[in-house]
Amino acid sequence: PAADPAAGHDALLFRAFMKQKITVLGSTGSIGTNTLDVVARHREHYEVFALSAATQVDLMLRQCAEFKPAYAVMASAPHAKLLAEQLRSNGLATEVLQSPDALEQIASHPEVDAVMAAIVGAAGLAPCLAAARAGKRLLLANKEALVVGGALFMDTVKRHGATLLPIDSEHSAIFQCLPEDRASWPDRVDSLLLTASGGPFRLRDPATLSEITPEQACAHPNFSMGRKISVDSATMMNKALEVIEARWLFDMAPDKIKVVIHPQQIVHSMVQFKDASVLAQLGTPDMRVPIACGLAWPRRIASGAAPLDFAKLSALTFEEADAVRFPGLHLSWQALRASEGTTAVLNASNEVAVAAFLERRLAFDRIHAVNLRTLETLLPPTLGSLDDLLALDAQAREIAHTMARQWQLQ
Ligand code: NDP
Repeated sequence: PAADPAAGHDALLFRAFMKQKITVLGSTGSIGTNTLDVVARHREHYEVFALSAATQVDLMLRQCAEFKPAYAVMASAPHAKLLAEQLRSNGLATEVLQSPDALEQIASHPEVDAVMAAIVGAAGLAPCLAAARAGKRLLLANKEALVVGGALFMDTVKRHGATLLPIDSEHSAIFQCLPEDRASWPDRVDSLLLTASGGPFRLRDPATLSEITPEQACAHPNFSMGRKISVDSATMMNKALEVIEARWLFDMAPDKIKVVIHPQQIVHSMVQFKDASVLAQLGTPDMRVPIACGLAWPRRIASGAAPLDFAKLSALTFEEADAVRFPGLHLSWQALRASEGTTAVLNASNEVAVAAFLERRLAFDRIHAVNLRTLETLLPPTLGSLDDLLALDAQAREIAHTMARQWQLQ
């Protein structure tokens, strides 16, 4: 069930058997490195065309030495200059692109077949849209891009015949459980059940949330992830963003998307059908599984993840999310019911609040306070274009910065 109904199963299968040239946006991050790990296992099927990163020049240099991409992009000029010098002194031919639209160029280049979107935050939106406009196979980890882009993002995918494949493990699970015939979903599907680990503070006394440090918030029980998504998992804002992501990916009414806590993270998400039957996708908690699924779909390739050992699974438990401990979770439904653009405001505010928390300027429990106040303060205007969205994003960030300063830790 590709997001583009025109991209039939046979066409996808045909293309999946050809060698694919890939651009990895955010190659030095957790998803980026896991993607290259899977790619390295299947060099006969995948060739790296371009890589992008922000600050990690040394890791980017090693990736260029190993995968020999034609192009590399760094987010800032000083990092780009340093990388270009090091590539030259190591005799590597990768060209460093430095123009303001370099990310869009490597996402939409005619030679590229697939784009892994693994930049963190709204910074990934423009290259995602460029890949969609160029009709690419877009592997979407960067959920914030869809949360901000919403209808504009999905319209671009459809209009240009791009194929959108989810990489978030929950959405990959739902994608795998849904019937291939997208047109049949309204008749057959009752609801989507997103599972959530509950993060490191699922059992913590809510009265002590203000004392949580960045180190504690980034120590996820099952996954090693980037710092921003780790904090989002701890507040459950990650699940709030995923509810919004699911609304757009699967064109599902917000009240048909539910969240259930499942601490073992073995069931990655589920689809409930009209007859009360539920289909679930299971696997070890390893992001290489949904990455391999997206890269090869509709084929299946080895991901490097260990298979599930059912003899060792002691229990699979499920519980309701606690609204007192995780007040941010419900902002997703609130934002989806409000005017278009409200989800972009929520995302921008959350990015600012999480950055302030990671820099020890804001207490953990104030992340929600900043998001709530920003949502209450900014009523989005009518949106027509990417520029409107980016202006709204900037306005929301300004308000969130003001709120965060107001509650700044001494
Ligand atoms: P990381 O922080 O580990 O990596 C982010 C990547 O983006 C890095 O390569 C980083 O470069 C680069 N980057 C950061 N800021 C910018 C910017 N402003 N412009 C261009 N590049 C930038 O994040 P994750 O890999 O954990 O997450 C990436 C995305 O995938 C997020 O949207 C997240 O929600 C989603 N996701 C992640 C999962 C996970 O398990 N990690 C699971 C499901 C979804 P550098 O490191 O060089 O500074």
